[in-house]
Amino acid sequence: MQTIKASLYFPIDMTDKPFITDLVRDYGLTVNVLQAEILPGRPGKSVIDLTGSEEDLEKGLIYLSEHGISVHMFTTSIIHNADNCVDCGACVAVCTSGALQIKAPDWKLSFDPKECVRCKQCVKACPTRAINVNVFQ
Ligand code: SF4
Ligand code: SF4
Repeated sequence: MQTIKASLYFPIDMTDKPFITDLVRDYGLTVNVLQAEILPGRPGKSVIDLTGSEEDLEKGLIYLSEHGISVHMFTTSIIHNADNCVDCGACVAVCTSGALQIKAPDWKLSFDPKECVRCKQCVKACPTRAINVNVFQ
């Protein structure tokens, strides 16, 4: 089993189709929707994690492609270097997924890679360059 993270871009006529149900039922994939922008009469976009066997993932991606859904695979990951971090919160302010948080009682930055949609907004926001992109994952 493996998990891939991807952005999906839907044409207008696919935004109301049950493609997630199809991926689960017909290809045995687990789908975790991390972000979605679906509005009536407009093209849609979502970020998802897909988990399954390599063969099932490949079939699921072919299914999406055959239905006009563009898939952009994320091939990078985000690394937080705590040694350079001053817990200023600038990255938290731009992180819409909730992957970066500062909470009581210690008010230290925490990073949850499972929630990260790899938008890289935090990389630009960090004044100390404590967040980097790992291009090898
Ligand atoms: S890349 Fe940074 S800002 Fe974007 S979701 Fe991941 S942690 Fe949050
Ligand atoms: S912006 Fe940089 S220094 Fe500030 S909390 Fe985030 S990682 Fe740490």
